[in-house]
Formats: sequence, C-alpha cells, structure tokens
Amino acid sequence: MHPHDYLKLRRRAAGLTIEEAQRRLDEALQADWRFLGVDRRARGDDFEQLRDPCADFVRLEAGLSIAGTRELVLIKVRVFPIDPVIYHHLGMGGTPRICRFCGCSQLDACFDGHTTCAWVAKDLCSAASCQAQAVKEHRRAS
Ligand SMILES: [Zn+2]
Ligand SMILES: [Zn+2]
Repeated sequence: MHPHDYLKLRRRAAGLTIEEAQRRLDEALQADWRFLGVDRRARGDDFEQLRDPCADFVRLEAGLSIAGTRELVLIKVRVFPIDPVIYHHLGMGGTPRICRFCGCSQLDACFDGHTTCAWVAKDLCSAASCQAQAVKEHRRAS
C-alpha cells in the first residue's frame, strides 16, 4: 500500500468526502498561526493560490504531494484519525500492520463508543463495518 492510499482509506473510514476533509484541514491551517499564508490571506489574497500543495487532499490522495509532519499532525488532530508513523513507514516501502478495510492500526484503533477494535486476522480488525465487508468479500470469493 502507498501512503496516499492509506490517507484515502482513513478518510473513507471516517465517513468524510474529500471536500469535507479539505474544509477541515483548511480551518486547521487557518487556525495555525505558523502557517505562512495567514497574513497574506488576511489581506484578501486568494487562499487557493496560497495553499501549500502538501495540504491539498486531491494532490495528497493522488500521490502528487507528500504530507510533511505538520500536515500529518493537523490531519490527525483536526481532520480524521491517522497514525503519521504508518504514513511515513508506507512511504519508505514498509508494510506496517493495518486493517485492509479501514486502515486502522495499533496506535490508531477504531472506537465504537464502548471498546477499541482488536486484530482478528493479519490485516483485518474487529470493527463491525470491517467484519461486514470481510463477509461480503468472502461471499464474492466463493
Ligand atoms: Zn478495520
Ligand atoms: Zn479497527
């Protein structure tokens, strides 16, 4: 799996469209005073023009740009759950353990309001939606 596939998987698992995710990330960036575009945006410059390519979900999910630590932390805290370490690991060609349906991982487990998920197979977690997809996949295969 590529890091951009991982981002897409986690966004979909969070039930967000790419537009919703972008809106949240833009808000997070605007709230982040370290973001260089803030002053210029305050003067009325076009935010789209100023947006860091590393903070554009279309580019990120197409693999056209790579999120840096700052973007990954903002996504994790303000947009949807991810584990930045997994993203970096995948970027280095690694094969971290993640659920193939929702992309959750050891430090970024699903939470249904009562309990966190557990591994039921090498790349499958116990979340209800992932179990349902595994059943569907099994039916298709047989
Ligand atoms: Zn899962
Ligand atoms: Zn899970």
